[in-house]
Amino acid sequence: MPHHRFLLIIYPAQGHINPTLQFAKRLISSGAEHVTLCTTLHTYRRISNKPTLPNLTLLPFSDGFDDGFKLTPDTDYSLYATELKRRGTEFVTDLILSAAQEGKPFTCLIYTLLLHWAAEAARGLHLPTALLWVQPATVLDIIYYYFHGYHDCLLSKIEFELPGLPFSLSPSDLPSFLLPSNDSFIVSYFEEQFRELDVEANPTILVNSFEALEPEAMRAVEEFNVIPIGPLIPSAFLDGKDLNDTSFGGDIFRLSNGCAEWLDLQAEKSVVYVSFGSFVVLSKTQMEEIARALLDCGHPFLWVIREMEEELSCREELEEKGKVVTWCSQVEVLSHRSVGCFLTHCGWNSTMESLVSGVPMVAFPRFSDQMTNAKMVEDVWKIGVRMDHSVNEDGVVEGGEIRKCLDAVMGNGEKAEEVRRNAEKFKGLAMEAGKEGGSSEKNLMAFLAVGGYGSCN
Ligand code: UDP
Repeated sequence: MPHHRFLLIIYPAQGHINPTLQFAKRLISSGAEHVTLCTTLHTYRRISNKPTLPNLTLLPFSDGFDDGFKLTPDTDYSLYATELKRRGTEFVTDLILSAAQEGKPFTCLIYTLLLHWAAEAARGLHLPTALLWVQPATVLDIIYYYFHGYHDCLLSKIEFELPGLPFSLSPSDLPSFLLPSNDSFIVSYFEEQFRELDVEANPTILVNSFEALEPEAMRAVEEFNVIPIGPLIPSAFLDGKDLNDTSFGGDIFRLSNGCAEWLDLQAEKSVVYVSFGSFVVLSKTQMEEIARALLDCGHPFLWVIREMEEELSCREELEEKGKVVTWCSQVEVLSHRSVGCFLTHCGWNSTMESLVSGVPMVAFPRFSDQMTNAKMVEDVWKIGVRMDHSVNEDGVVEGGEIRKCLDAVMGNGEKAEEVRRNAEKFKGLAMEAGKEGGSSEKNLMAFLAVGGYGSCN
């Protein structure tokens, strides 16, 4: 096998950090000589449980916002993106050159979503690159089509099919930033990302997914060399090869205490786990509706509430009937025997983590790829139910609808049985893909054996 020295650069978001850290560990355990993993100084400082491995170096760089950049309706994201690109490009270029001068050149740059400028810099220095796609392959395909001739079709029809994808989609299943009604600035960054991929012949895209989960989506776009290498989950919860590997090691929020102890006290599959990931902020009214549903559903619940500007009216009752924390080790929680269902925003990592643990979901997507992930959870894999799209005049999903979905998954009806059965099935397939000799493990070994990683013109 060639000697690999990887340079990994991550966008500073929890949902990008976790799978990339796991990927770095996987590269090392699969024989890579060294991995240098870079992210912004602000994020680096926030991570309290960084992994320490002899062949792994974590290297921060300044994006010009070392105290953080808070995105609010009044801030201009392009200010941040421009500075990140300028400083990041300089950093990556210097790092690649100095490593070569020291006689330890990098052999490949791997970058996550929205850091396409890093690939551009690497290509300029003839270093091969690969994109680590931290969303499902289906979303990769949809965005590709959007920028390659299907824009009008996607936005003008009530229901449509895309080449190579085995199910039809409606606008509400699309990544929300593609919809004109969202007026999202993010779409222009995705466009840059996909234009950057167009420059390369058959670019390598490593996807945090696995063959049996999205077989058609892996091959839908001929122009890409898509390599499924997921699920990127700590080894203890997947292949069991390293039982000490129980966390990603990238938490940018402080862990609350007592989750495991509380879960130990609950009956098997009785708990509703609730989390909206690291990014989503819900209105107080929406939170009150969720609280109502949880208090009425008759099940114990563990609810992650990262921050709240205003206290919930029923806080005391919530603390009595369930447990409320500001952050937990989600992979540990989901693998606990007492968890029966995950009320989730369907971020891709949360979806994969739930799937690996065989926990059925109540999908409550808010934006971005969550919409497509939720569609697949409900209609394609049938491992959960999706909240009704309809909201009341305040844009809020009401407690009654949330409660209905919780009952559907936690109850004894036909639907509950179906989603539990399928959740077990996909858990098995995920384990199969991740274990030694499984499809994802083989794909990673083949990627490492080739050592060419696509083009480096
Ligand atoms: N997570 C966690 N503890 C929590 C909530 C979330 O460790 O209390 C982790 C979760 O395991 C996942 C990540 O944060 O790996 C969230 O990523 P996801 O893609 O689901 O959502 P995002 O935060 O990007 O919206």
